[in-house]
Amino acid sequence: MSAWEAVVGLEVHAQLRTRTKLFCACPNEFGAPPNTHVCPVCLGLPGALPAPNEAAIDLALRAALALGGEVRERSVFARKSYFYPDLAKGYQISQFALPIIEGGAVPMALEGEARSAALTRIHLEEDAAKNLHVQGETVVDFNRAGTPLIEIVGEPVLRSGAEAEAYLRALREVLVFIGVNDGNLEEGSFRCDANVSIRPKGEERLGTRVELKNINSFRFVRKAIDHEVARQAALRESGGEVVQETRTWDERQERTVAMRGKEEAHDYRYFPDPDLPPLVVDAARLARAEETLPELPAAMRARWVETLGLTAQDAGVLAAHPAIAAYFEAVATGLGEAAGLKPAKAGKKAANFVMAEVLRETATEGVEARFPAAAPEVAALLALVEDGTINGKIAKEVFAKMVATGEPPKTIVEREGLAQVTDTAAIEAVVREVLAANPKQVEQYRGGKTAVLGFFVGQVMKATRGQANPKAVNEILRALLAEG
Ligand code: ADP
Ligand code: MG
Ligand code: ZN
Repeated sequence: MSAWEAVVGLEVHAQLRTRTKLFCACPNEFGAPPNTHVCPVCLGLPGALPAPNEAAIDLALRAALALGGEVRERSVFARKSYFYPDLAKGYQISQFALPIIEGGAVPMALEGEARSAALTRIHLEEDAAKNLHVQGETVVDFNRAGTPLIEIVGEPVLRSGAEAEAYLRALREVLVFIGVNDGNLEEGSFRCDANVSIRPKGEERLGTRVELKNINSFRFVRKAIDHEVARQAALRESGGEVVQETRTWDERQERTVAMRGKEEAHDYRYFPDPDLPPLVVDAARLARAEETLPELPAAMRARWVETLGLTAQDAGVLAAHPAIAAYFEAVATGLGEAAGLKPAKAGKKAANFVMAEVLRETATEGVEARFPAAAPEVAALLALVEDGTINGKIAKEVFAKMVATGEPPKTIVEREGLAQVTDTAAIEAVVREVLAANPKQVEQYRGGKTAVLGFFVGQVMKATRGQANPKAVNEILRALLAEG
């Protein structure tokens, strides 16, 4: 066992899902042609005045409520000064001494056990523009300049790359569910910096930290942290010292590499922005935010286990994405209503079908999901199984055709004559044929080898193209074999 303990604290920048930017009316939209979403405010032209976007503040309040943070009644926007081409004003509007939210925690599950990781603070800030490197030149796209972010600063309470990954996944899930963030790592709307240090086990004092930046996948964050911990331990064990610096993950070399050292550390000279009055959040506003707060994923999972008959594992799969969660609930409710099933029964059946058939063909992108068939159609399909029109096996076939043609299940069943054969006389005729054609197996059955029943069922189903009612087939087979 290692003599070192890893200490990790994460800083997450989450883009707020507003229509417009944080201090101007330009669209907050990814992917537009460069420098088309700009105005004097977000270009930092002299004399332009920022005006806070109330919708961004309400989203921050939602995050506070979901993560259990304390909302400060009067918080202050501050100027964080530094020079960089993507920061036209020469400062970023952020919050420093008095952030809008203090404390809170990320609820997470570690190896199936519920835990929570404490937060230091959450503050509002504007994003910088984006430097692009094109043909040996650096150009700047100001579309991102001034878009709204919350920075979620975690306490240094995580102890491994795996814990950090679990934290990030849980945090993203909550923010996406409450409509605050779209969770899109590739587009940079959910970004993470990881601070990593080690200390001898039992030591309380924190060691010198390294900041890992610009890592855009959860898996790479985990690997980067674990490698960084090992690098620091090896360094200390060989008599070296960890230096405070910024590093990044090099996936090709599978190691962290230095980006810049402490000598470049900034003195940001924070001070309250004289253009912006203190941000006041009164109790009434907080109460309104609470009223619109959607159900959180953990509560949703608990409710499904409690009332819809799901296992914790199934609930975890279906509640991992808000659009999938809503889809599943629509199938479960639709099936319950159409087939007159109790919620626990409809829920379980809907969950099984959605997980086995629908999710395979579902694509998610950010908060959106594209489903192969609409939820009410899937509910109608499962209702056809419940009322005995088709069996479960045929249902899968019909589903594939629904996906291919977009037609409702009933149309497909009728046109293709897929309805189950429940006419016992018809089934009996087929059973008699099957028994007559397989005298050896009949003898085996009657001699006590009842397992061959499955063989007969298979033959009958084959002869009826899978459309015979399995229960009727079983009953008739047993009866005729018993006649002997
Ligand atoms: P900044 O990075 O802006 O200087 P802080 O010093 O407040 O801000 O630290 C930010 C993050 O670094 C927090 O998430 C905190 O948990 C983490 N952190 C601070 N010190 C350490 C340390 N010695 N080891 C690991 N993480 C640390
Ligand atoms: Mg930092
Ligand atoms: Zn603007």
